[in-house]
Amino acid sequence: TPPAEKYEYQAEVNRLMDLIVHSLYSNKEVFLRELVSNASDALDKLRYLSVTDSDLLKDGPELDIRIQTDKDNGTITIIDTGIGMTRQELVDSLGTIASSGTAKFLKALKESQEASVDSNLIGQFGVGFYSAFLVSDKVVVSTKSPKSDKQYVWESEAESSSYTIREETDPEKLIPRGTRLTLYLKRDDKGFAHPERIQKLVKNYSQFVSFPIYTWQEKGYTKEVEVDDPTEAKKEGDDETKTEVKKKTKTVVEKYWDWELTNETQPIWLRNPREVSTEEYNEFYKNTFNEYMDPLASSHFTTEGEVEFRSILYVPATKKDDITDRKTKNIRLYVKRVFISDDFDGELFPRYLSFVKGVVDSNDLPLNVSREILQESRVVRIMRKRLVRKAFDMILGISCSENRDDYEKFWENYGKFLKLGCMEDKENHKRIAPLLRFFSSQSNEELISLDEYVENMKPEQKDIYYIAADSLSSAKHAPFLEKLDEKEYEVLFLVDPMDEVSVTNLNSYKDKRFIDISKEDLDLGDKNEEREKEIKQEYGQTCDWIKKRLGDKVGRVDISNRLSSSPCVLAAAKFGWSANMERLMRAQSM
Ligand code: ADP
Ligand code: MG
Repeated sequence: TPPAEKYEYQAEVNRLMDLIVHSLYSNKEVFLRELVSNASDALDKLRYLSVTDSDLLKDGPELDIRIQTDKDNGTITIIDTGIGMTRQELVDSLGTIASSGTAKFLKALKESQEASVDSNLIGQFGVGFYSAFLVSDKVVVSTKSPKSDKQYVWESEAESSSYTIREETDPEKLIPRGTRLTLYLKRDDKGFAHPERIQKLVKNYSQFVSFPIYTWQEKGYTKEVEVDDPTEAKKEGDDETKTEVKKKTKTVVEKYWDWELTNETQPIWLRNPREVSTEEYNEFYKNTFNEYMDPLASSHFTTEGEVEFRSILYVPATKKDDITDRKTKNIRLYVKRVFISDDFDGELFPRYLSFVKGVVDSNDLPLNVSREILQESRVVRIMRKRLVRKAFDMILGISCSENRDDYEKFWENYGKFLKLGCMEDKENHKRIAPLLRFFSSQSNEELISLDEYVENMKPEQKDIYYIAADSLSSAKHAPFLEKLDEKEYEVLFLVDPMDEVSVTNLNSYKDKRFIDISKEDLDLGDKNEEREKEIKQEYGQTCDWIKKRLGDKVGRVDISNRLSSSPCVLAAAKFGWSANMERLMRAQSM
């Protein structure tokens, strides 16, 4: 066999390991969660591929995880029968930072240091494989991919900047498929090698893994055995030729070691919602989506009839910035409990709701479902519709919560996604509109809903008035407001660039039109024709003179009844863009 080859870690890996060891020391036990979740991912991948290629299972149909501890030597061995790794995959996966989880960890670490958040919080993060070095002096990964006929051993020591890879030669360590990972625990961490300790950690951290996890446990059973009875024997005297010795029965405990199933493998979404606690939903969420904060809301439901599926949806509490991000991996699709994919682009869930996370499990799709099938499928269309509806119910729930802060937080994090929805999803305008929030001329810098606006309308008021501006203060000082303030009509201040576009897409709310108060034909229902005629006569010439002076810079100069104290105002043409839209278009074309 060729000798072991030595490799250097990518520089970022060294830095990450350093960070992990120095910021997670108070939360070392997360290593087990990380390694078990990798084993579970590897099993998911194999199970998915085996749907179309059953040969993959020929070396053993079992898909499970086994954890063996050796407390005398201070080692923990985690064995999975998953997809394994080829030599190249070992280099790519365990020598560089390719995973999203670790990148996310680095980002959060940076943010939390800036905000000086409790570093325990970081302990809940997915820091991945390298967390093995939190507790280990040495880590050995022996792995066999179905793509390769050889089994390889990756080996590295803590605080070293390199690792080696060689072929597995120990016949005792050969496995038909999957990965066998051995941790050589640090002196102070050998306690993790106690079977009961590992059992407890698995129950704590890996309760939502959907493959069986077995731990190696010492067991005992009692049995009755016949033993010599020395007291009786004495009475018989010392004659050694006597063969008849009195016996008596005794109960003894026989000890042996065996695998014990340690987790509950029924997926949480198959359970009865009434029997699942909020804590369990939250734990499942954090485990599954590598999140560290509890979600703002969750919704667990089953739909029956035409299409049957089960789902749990969540609204996260963490901000998502990029609304155009396509690789959101927010919905995990299962078919008959087999994980299929989390890589969709709007087929299963609209992109503007990509901040919602969740799992969906259907019995009505084929296991080898492809993106093409998803795009064409009637089943998927129905699922999508129901999921969207449930997502809106869940968000509405947050907005109805007694705690106003919750929705404020939601709006701050995801408001722009809903505005995008006004543009992209006409069908759901009715569901989106009540969730929107705006500043207004009467709300004193607080956000209001359209329902609150409508409630506050004057009896004779027919429309919803708005003005778009680039800031709250320029909206407040717009001369257009004067007349409306006088009548105590509330005016929405659309100060976010996406506000005006969403309102014009909605067109109306509860049969009340959205009216831009900066447009020329604003009719507040208070026309006085006689008086207008008089004024026109008096100032007609002035208008002509101004138009002459300004020339092409303005379309028209007119008498208006829209102002009460300002002498004049620049209004936008009825069918033209508002001043704000022009600003936006100009900004975009630059
Ligand atoms: P992540 O799980 O977020 O991708 P990790 O650092 O936990 O990041 O793991 C890095 C990569 O190493 C995984 O993406 C996977 O490709 C590989 N890997 C780790 N453990 C296993 C395993 N038990 N079986 C197969 N591949 C594994
Ligand atoms: Mg991982």
